[in-house]
Amino acid sequence: MYVCTSRPSLDKMLDEKRKQGHKIHFVPTMGALHDGHISLLKQASQKNAVVVCSIFVNPTQFNDKADLDKYPRTLEADLALIEAGSDCRIVFAPDSPNEVYDQTYQEQTLGLEGLDKVMEGAFRPGHFKGVVNVVNQLFAIVKPDVTFFGEKDFQQLAIIRLMTKKLNLDIDIVGCPIIREPNGLARSSRNERLSVKMRAEAALIHQSLQELKSNYLKYSLETCKTHFMRSFENSPLEVEYLSIVDGHTLQEISEWHETAYAQACTAVFAGEIRLIDNVQIFA
Ligand code: AMP
Repeated sequence: MYVCTSRPSLDKMLDEKRKQGHKIHFVPTMGALHDGHISLLKQASQKNAVVVCSIFVNPTQFNDKADLDKYPRTLEADLALIEAGSDCRIVFAPDSPNEVYDQTYQEQTLGLEGLDKVMEGAFRPGHFKGVVNVVNQLFAIVKPDVTFFGEKDFQQLAIIRLMTKKLNLDIDIVGCPIIREPNGLARSSRNERLSVKMRAEAALIHQSLQELKSNYLKYSLETCKTHFMRSFENSPLEVEYLSIVDGHTLQEISEWHETAYAQACTAVFAGEIRLIDNVQIFA
């Protein structure tokens, strides 16, 4: 396992791999890895490809300092998980934000066609500005041919696709399915902070999304939304938002016929832990 903590050591390693004819397949993460991340690394592992994983808790995408401080940092365990669960043998784990935001860094102020204004963008001001800038900078550092992102962060994936298009980057973006716990809860680094009871209760998020999906042909969108919200009434979970959006524009729809591609996205508080999930209703 090559763990590069500085940019020059990563450059040297990747230049050699390119000279040997390998493509660079890249999975950016913030660490505290779990099966969801490992599934991305597995999908990245393809013939003639070298898989690179970055582990970097990006301070600029946290709008809440306490959330940043509490974000788990588990590098040794992450490396063990990567080694045991995937073919990835190159990890970029910068030892300071200065290694990422070096003298080459130029802040992007891309227009994102409103994709960044809704849902997570509305509730976490500045979050996507941080995401776009760190991903763009990591792309400049790693220079990948293909990158892999989870559909768990549905809005993030749409924004990265748009960013790549707008900046004319010659990088393929692959979306990967959501990996779940046995009870349906989407795997997340934040799940580790849930009590056993809350972790069990949080299964309701996926259950309610699935119910919405199975009901959409029978009921109006408004009725489905009301039903979703009501399903949380007797639970300790608190829904921050449920948005049913066009999967391309991410703008809310108010009736099913307004789109051919509907996605339901939600953020729910389990105590102080904020969880997100989504499901495709139809496409
Ligand atoms: P994070 O470390 O949370 O920034 O996530 C790094 C990447 O892993 C992102 O592309 C996420 O969408 C993806 N990811 C996180 N959780 C899951 C999951 N449960 N299933 C699939 N991908 C995931």
